[in-house]
Amino acid sequence: MAQVQERVAAELDRIGPVVDELGRRFADAGHTLHLVGGPVRDAMLGRLQDDLDLTTSAHPDEVERLVKGWADAVWDIGRAFGTIGCRKGEWTVEITTYRSEAYSPDSRKPEVAYGTDLAGDLGRRDFTVNAMAVSLPDRRFDDPFGGIVDLAHQVLRTPGRPEDSFSDDPLRMMRAARFAAQLGFDVAPEVVAAMTAMAERIDVISAERVRDELVKLVCAPQPRRGLALLVETGLAERVLPELPALQLERDEHHRHKDVYEHSLTVLEQAIDLEERLAGPDGAGVPDFVVRFAALIHDIGKPRTRRFLSDGSVTFHHHDVVGAKLTRKRMKALRFSTEQVEAVSKLVELHLRFHGYGDGGWTDSAVRRYVRDAGDQLERLHILTRADCTTRNKRKADRLRRTYDDLEARIAVLAEQEELDAIRPDLDGNAIMTILGIGPGREVGEAYRFLLELRMDEGPQTPEAAEAALRAWWDARTP
Ligand code: ATP
Ligand code: MG
Repeated sequence: MAQVQERVAAELDRIGPVVDELGRRFADAGHTLHLVGGPVRDAMLGRLQDDLDLTTSAHPDEVERLVKGWADAVWDIGRAFGTIGCRKGEWTVEITTYRSEAYSPDSRKPEVAYGTDLAGDLGRRDFTVNAMAVSLPDRRFDDPFGGIVDLAHQVLRTPGRPEDSFSDDPLRMMRAARFAAQLGFDVAPEVVAAMTAMAERIDVISAERVRDELVKLVCAPQPRRGLALLVETGLAERVLPELPALQLERDEHHRHKDVYEHSLTVLEQAIDLEERLAGPDGAGVPDFVVRFAALIHDIGKPRTRRFLSDGSVTFHHHDVVGAKLTRKRMKALRFSTEQVEAVSKLVELHLRFHGYGDGGWTDSAVRRYVRDAGDQLERLHILTRADCTTRNKRKADRLRRTYDDLEARIAVLAEQEELDAIRPDLDGNAIMTILGIGPGREVGEAYRFLLELRMDEGPQTPEAAEAALRAWWDARTP
């Protein structure tokens, strides 16, 4: 406890210059202001961040008036929900009016009713560790639900009965899994029981809110914890049914491994390789796209499984089928087109490398690999390397060396030519001039012929490209 208090004191000193002045402004106007939720919890855990959540008795219009002139920028996050956002230096501050929400059981979004006191506001928060507050500027600590004890025991509990809390807002069930993954905490047994009993209630929540929690969960330090909880409670069955479907019963000969377990391990191995994507200042990680692709790369397997008469099992085209399922699910979860395309491309290409065998790819095959991966190449490297969970060390070493070899080949080829911008050696105008034809279908055909040639044989001199084009043209016209 003493250590926790020290951490909080140190954190309050760190943010003091930002928040004390703001606290005085609110106090002078006759309002209370509290640091609440995430920043209080994270200060105790020593997880510092630059986002500050505050709660106040002032209504949004008043909040806006009070922060104007103090903040560098002010915006409206959701006035209807009582939240005003602002920035002060590198700090992002969100100020929400006390709430005592009334929910109608089947509404997708909470209806907001403003509350009058801190106690009521804390009582409607999701978990006790998120229901602690520090008053500003005088720094009194409020913890009506024993959040500090739960924090010490690393457990997520709801302030009231979990059934009531989840009826009010079923999204909190997803948030339990998300915080388990982020904080590495356990979820209290009665909370798990309520999640299990009420899993289907998640259906009333909008896809966007579910997606946002899923993204945070997957990007957390311990996604396995959160994912296992989603699967175990039946929530995954509602929001990402392809995941529990990976729990294929094994065939009696144990010829294929547990695909679900394998997928979680691939996700963890991808996380270990993720820093390849990090920029100089560590930006770009965690990377949702590579993590999600790792998690679901095999989702085509349940649908493509065939048992052969010799007792073996195959999953033909599970890459293609998996890419389709990925698209469908991610669209349903309202991911951006860019994210949908990125993840489904990775799923579709995750097996391609295995044709590489003992280094037997032609230059043309290497170029095609690079072209098809496009801007996902670095992620494809990570996914393919992570997708090796054999316990046979020699086999794993061999795969790693083979992939090293492929990456080396790509580097050599990329130096020779700028692979990522492969174009035919002659453009449309040159094609028309050489063949003496006008615009039309034949120019497109000639262009594709030259592109294939470029893929198969690498860059050509203009003379060689022209000769090849003429030969193709002569052979083609009767
Ligand atoms: P982070 O910002 O790191 O994701 P956080 O704890 O700040 O974590 P937010 O989603 O930003 O989480 O929410 C801020 C606070 O608002 C939470 O700590 C919690 O007290 C409360 N809260 C947010 N969403 C809900 C909800 N659906 N039900 C109840 N309380 C909530
Ligand atoms: Mg927050």
